[in-house]
Amino acid sequence: MNMLTYLARMIPKELDYVCEAIPEFSTRYAKWSITKIKRGRRLGAVCFSSQQMEINVEYYNTMDPETRKQLRQTLVHELAHLAQYMTGGRNHDRVWKSWMRSLGVPNPRACVKRGEMSPHIANMVEKHSRQRDKIVGICAGCGHKVMRTRRLPKNKQYTHKQCGGGLIRPV
Ligand SMILES: [Zn+2]
Ligand SMILES: [Zn+2]
Repeated sequence: MNMLTYLARMIPKELDYVCEAIPEFSTRYAKWSITKIKRGRRLGAVCFSSQQMEINVEYYNTMDPETRKQLRQTLVHELAHLAQYMTGGRNHDRVWKSWMRSLGVPNPRACVKRGEMSPHIANMVEKHSRQRDKIVGICAGCGHKVMRTRRLPKNKQYTHKQCGGGLIRPV
């Protein structure tokens, strides 16, 4: 879907503000689209090379009021990056923060704290961090634990690079 159309529907006030502050804004981003990140831990992102604003479908697949509110907050966060791109600055610097404040976010931060997430999104994030922490192998030589998101394929032997010991899979 066209990004500006989507933003006009989801965060009309904020989009209007940026379009008035930067007259070339809508021309600059006219061709951008909204796409969905299918996995990963980010809530949203902007990609300048592919001209896309991305949102994480897994996090926003439940549209309870709190999650919807958080989706709008994420869109404002990304909108501030688009504005920042045209006025200088990078990452979550002063320029980005100043755009966030103009868009009604008094204390802008790069990351959303657990306690401020909607219960649905907090659950998803929790699920991801559990996945991240899985032990997939233990070195028979030194006892080192290999952590991965996914299990190691069964039909292959693995060794611990640092000591040469064979990896034992946990049952
Ligand atoms: Zn950001
Ligand atoms: Zn080892």
